[in-house]
Amino acid sequence: MEGMLVIISGPSGSGKGTVVKELDPANGYAVSISVTTRKPRPGEVDGKDYFFITEEEFANMREENKLLEHFAYVGNYYGTPRPYVEDQIVKGKIVVLEIEVNGALQVKEKFPEAVLVFLMPPTFTELERRLVNRGTENAVTIEDRLKQSMEEVPLIHQYDYLVINDKVHSAVAKVDAIANAERLRPKRNKQTIKDFASSQVQMDFYTL
Ligand code: 5GP
Repeated sequence: MEGMLVIISGPSGSGKGTVVKELDPANGYAVSISVTTRKPRPGEVDGKDYFFITEEEFANMREENKLLEHFAYVGNYYGTPRPYVEDQIVKGKIVVLEIEVNGALQVKEKFPEAVLVFLMPPTFTELERRLVNRGTENAVTIEDRLKQSMEEVPLIHQYDYLVINDKVHSAVAKVDAIANAERLRPKRNKQTIKDFASSQVQMDFYTL
């Protein structure tokens, strides 16, 4: 099976993280861990939720071309480490990036075959409610994040799929269905087609 990239974006509070955590590695998923200069929230673990790094380390990674994409989001830098993504694609994995829209579009330019999924909360009010209830950000940051969410809306049209995250299990099932269907495209199964074609030659020989 050939590897592929699935990018999941959506407003802060859309539940992307929760959905991504439910994608089972046994089904071929490999979730990329981003680097960020943002400070860890209570409960976040370095190397699991993010690699928390300094601005200087971030600048070095960027200069050394170790980031597949990067973006400054509400005052902090975020980026996708390139080597992990490239290795996992070679291994045939469904590599999942949970990143915001600008980064997603940067990746799409480099990997036009990447599948872009936008995860949306059912309503803006629900988004606001989730952000406030999460209790991890102060009022100013919440407002900045909500503003940023509205700026992302026009870019949704550049995505391949839109999933409403009303119930987590149903959103996970939809993302799973998208990835599985995309995996079956002939363009992602060239080797299988080649193998089939070469077995035809052997059969001709057999029936002569
Ligand atoms: P948070 O601070 O809530 O963890 O993340 C803020 C935003 O940055 C979210 O929309 C998240 O998806 C996005 N993000 C996380 N990692 C990356 C990354 O590596 N690159 C980009 N472009 N965005 C990211």
